[in-house]
Amino acid sequence: MANPREASGPGRFTWQIEAQDNVSNRVEPIRSVTGTRDLLPPDTSLWQRVETEAHRVFAAYHYGEIRTPILEETALFARGVGTETDIVMKEMYTFRDRDEDSLTLRPEATASVVRAYIEHSLYNIGGIQKLYYIGPMFRRERPQKGRYRQFYQIGAEVLGSQNPLVDVEVIEMLVLFLGRVGIREYQLLVNSVGCSSCRAAYLESLRVALQDAKAGMCVDCQRRADTNPLRVLDCKVEADQPIIEKLPMIIDHLDPECRQHFERVTSELQARGLAYQVTPRLVRGLDYYTRTTFEITSGALGAQNALVGGGRYDGLSEMLGGPSTPGIGFSIGQDRLILAVQASAVIQSENPLAAYIVWMGEPTLAPALRLVRELRAQGLSVETNYDSMKIKKAMGNANKLQARFAIIIGEGELASGKYQVKNMATSEQSELEPSTIAEYMKDKLRIRN
Ligand code: AMP
Repeated sequence: MANPREASGPGRFTWQIEAQDNVSNRVEPIRSVTGTRDLLPPDTSLWQRVETEAHRVFAAYHYGEIRTPILEETALFARGVGTETDIVMKEMYTFRDRDEDSLTLRPEATASVVRAYIEHSLYNIGGIQKLYYIGPMFRRERPQKGRYRQFYQIGAEVLGSQNPLVDVEVIEMLVLFLGRVGIREYQLLVNSVGCSSCRAAYLESLRVALQDAKAGMCVDCQRRADTNPLRVLDCKVEADQPIIEKLPMIIDHLDPECRQHFERVTSELQARGLAYQVTPRLVRGLDYYTRTTFEITSGALGAQNALVGGGRYDGLSEMLGGPSTPGIGFSIGQDRLILAVQASAVIQSENPLAAYIVWMGEPTLAPALRLVRELRAQGLSVETNYDSMKIKKAMGNANKLQARFAIIIGEGELASGKYQVKNMATSEQSELEPSTIAEYMKDKLRIRN
């Protein structure tokens, strides 16, 4: 059995593989790590289409893509996400590098985006910065359907404006994107968690209320009641919910500026026909949120129904050592989005193979390979066999791979200069000169140049 072991000695990693099983002479296969998974074709074509749509929609709103490293210094998340959050306390993949630096596989990307914004002085460019990202995140959560330890997020951030119109535009863009990928049934939940000054007064009243209530709550909440009372509202423990329901609500403690900001957000959502529900308990799991917070849930997802989380984080840049810069963003759980897209049946994974080339006999191999190359250069997905085989077997391959067309080249076709192009769904067959085949297929497949 393969059993990798870390050899002792500072800074030295060698892997010792145990001897093979002498009886069967086979080694035990290595499986993917718990909570991680392989994404395979044809499903990956759906992932690509969702990502293509994200690139399109975000570009229309004038966002540029940012790609930050997956590894960051642990301090970034401790400072940026908050030491009292579940993410930082229980879920991060943190390790000491060989030079003793503490590194973490990013559990989310907003802190990284803001770090990059500060590191590259993007605030000097002037105006607001609109950035989006797509990529894997890591949290050591209990795996189940829709919850993984390596999962993917598609997110966007706007830095440099406090204007509530920006909050609404972010939500509008999100809703447009969801519609484009076929998600029509969902709920948009919104709330305001105020700013640091109105939150201080609220936290005081929450603390007082919790002094009486905490005894009946879970151990985590008993601790949070003293260390970070806002986190109590995030508690998922069923038995705590009736107690949480009776706690004071932040929405009743907003100062006049925060109240006005929230009213502008909700009235503008209404004006744009974007349906929402004000949810006073929505505080979200990360410490950096201020004012607008929102979540999108989908009934198609079962227990893990949160599809998108987002909100404003006006103090984050300062917390990370940057200039005072307001910000707002969201993050879509791509794994869950794909599950919801599959459930909506509007877009399905599809097999993109346009043609399978069937060639018969050695003299047809070179022209067949030439056609394969030409069609691929035209952007058509094409496959053939490299070893010679009987026509029946080659047509069987075309069937198995669900090719839309089979193109048959025998010696007769070589002599006439016209190849047989067979539509595999209708069995309709045409004889075409090789130079016209790409256009013919594009027309039939409705692919625009
Ligand atoms: P958050 O960064 O916690 O605000 O999460 C934003 C979105 O990411 C959530 O609404 C989920 O759709 C998704 N998400 C968060 N954690 C996981 C996970 N462990 N597995 C899959 N998706 C997740």
